[in-house]
Amino acid sequence: MVLLQIAEPGQSDAPHERRLAVGIDLGTTNSLVATVRSGMAVVLNDELGRSLLPSVVRYTGDGCEVGYEAQAHQTSDPRNTVVSVKRFMGRGLKDIAHRESMPYLFDDAPGMVRLHTAAGPKSPVEVSADILRALRERGEAALGGDLVGAVITVPAYFDDAQRQATKDAARLAGLNVLRLLNEPTAAAIAYGLDNAAEGVYAVYDLGGGTFDISILKLSRGVFEVLSTGGDSALGGDDFDQRIFCWIIEAAKLKPLSPQDARFILSRAREAKEYLTFHGAAPITARLSSGEVVDLTLTTEIFAEITRTLVTKTMQPVRKALRDAKLGVDDVNGVIMVGGATRMPQIQRAVGEFFKKEPLNNLDPDKVVALGAAKQANLLAGNRSADDWLLLDVIPLSLGLEMMGGLVEKIIPRNSTIPIARAQDFTTFRDGQTALAVHVVQGERELVTDCRSLARFELRGIPPMVAGAARIRVTFQVDADGLLSVSAREQTAGVEASVVVKPSYGLSDDEIAHMLKDSLEHSRDDAMRRALKEIQVEAQRLIEAVQSALKSDGELLADDERARIEAAIVALQAAALGENRRHITLAMDTLDADTKDFAARRMDKNIRRALAGRSVAEIAGEESQ
Ligand code: ADP
Ligand code: MG
Repeated sequence: MVLLQIAEPGQSDAPHERRLAVGIDLGTTNSLVATVRSGMAVVLNDELGRSLLPSVVRYTGDGCEVGYEAQAHQTSDPRNTVVSVKRFMGRGLKDIAHRESMPYLFDDAPGMVRLHTAAGPKSPVEVSADILRALRERGEAALGGDLVGAVITVPAYFDDAQRQATKDAARLAGLNVLRLLNEPTAAAIAYGLDNAAEGVYAVYDLGGGTFDISILKLSRGVFEVLSTGGDSALGGDDFDQRIFCWIIEAAKLKPLSPQDARFILSRAREAKEYLTFHGAAPITARLSSGEVVDLTLTTEIFAEITRTLVTKTMQPVRKALRDAKLGVDDVNGVIMVGGATRMPQIQRAVGEFFKKEPLNNLDPDKVVALGAAKQANLLAGNRSADDWLLLDVIPLSLGLEMMGGLVEKIIPRNSTIPIARAQDFTTFRDGQTALAVHVVQGERELVTDCRSLARFELRGIPPMVAGAARIRVTFQVDADGLLSVSAREQTAGVEASVVVKPSYGLSDDEIAHMLKDSLEHSRDDAMRRALKEIQVEAQRLIEAVQSALKSDGELLADDERARIEAAIVALQAAALGENRRHITLAMDTLDADTKDFAARRMDKNIRRALAGRSVAEIAGEESQ
């Protein structure tokens, strides 16, 4: 017998047995790595004591530089210095806005975008992997050992393709991904546990390139994300851009070279960050063209030229509240996340909107990494006494194509994940042996208005009469938001499945557009749906009657048969039209004309079933 050795409390002097895990905030602008040490989440610094790693990678003939080193070459070597690569994750070339104004050499091959660099072609996954590798090395150096895994954060609105790309990057960097975690949720973990606060919270995350809003409910240590929203093309960078345009205009500059443009842009960013703590920022620069910039930007002008950006963030906030069916007064607190929330006009606007001071006692740059570290610590098995659960949501409904091109929603939008839902379907035709499964995403009623995610076929269904087969279709969305769909025929047990990994996914604009569309068209859609449904119903009735005529036609007199056939033709004609009442009437007629026939068929079938069998036998069968 094997005896288990039990260490005495306080005697376990083997800290290496603690499973080393980190949380990583893989940001558009800056990335961080954090861990839990002695029960406290802490950000791990580089050898110079800096916590942020700029998400910048520069490729040279003999390798790559990451972080501040790479950032220093942004102006002198823009083509090989990749910034904001997160915007390219899981995206095709045509998904990238303003690519003409970017200094990169894009490859126009289909699939995810690629950049030509001095170190060869690089995909966003590879560039992100280089950032993650630097963070992994920082983590291993600080913790003194190999990591068992990492929790990596992604914007709440990342779709399947973007999440998958992030996972691939981590794997490429030699990291074991314990889980992907939504950034605002990570922030809530950092705040929720530290403050043990209960109630409804809004997480307002304005980073360098993305804006996320989440409405969360915290109660007794359980987080639930009630709704999410945002804009993946809005962040601190846009404020830099506004200052940039203001400089060009105020200093009356001629068109700039790419180097000068980058230089002015970095001056714009410095001014923005300076204005957080000062009333006015001096902006001076000498350009390669010989032109000189010497300006002063005041907080008033800055607030004025960025007013529309601030307002723009409030639209998704309102929508997220509506989705959560809550009003401003239901929100107990607002958590500020992301470096750009340091801007006074943002603090002010958010405070005014929610009618309360935003929570900002944790560093808005670090809060996501800290929450991710807590989650990583938990998932690695270093569980503390407080055990908590984490729920995230999916942004758009997932469903299946039904007869007539209608969508049957299986998992509704804003469902918490992980989630699995099954629904039973049946065959439409007698003897049908295959079923086409078409998985779609979106809020509209018709397949053509939704986004196609995947198609597969279930074959080998035993031939049965229409409606007799039972096919169970299961949708499963894992904790990272990845979807798998399977279909199983219950009697023969045949099965088919697919994991949905689209080559590249939806932008927030598309999601917003699809949601807006579904609202605008909901009445229209409902009518079209009702029409399609009745058309499908009519077709089903016609096929059933035709099949009965074939098998039991001898039960009919000639005039009866003629009347039924005429009713079928009338129904076929009505079903081609768009008048629901006509179709219903024609169905009623066919129904009435086949009533006697149906009764006779039933008699015949009962007689056939009972022929030559004892009552006991039949009763025995029934009780089985
Ligand atoms: P991301 O999540 O996109 O990596 P961060 O949360 O690191 O972004 O935020 C980066 C943004 O925050 C940049 O636009 C940066 O200029 C801005 N930022 C950082 N510090 C300040 C500050 N003091 N005032 C205003 N903006 C700031
Ligand atoms: Mg961020």
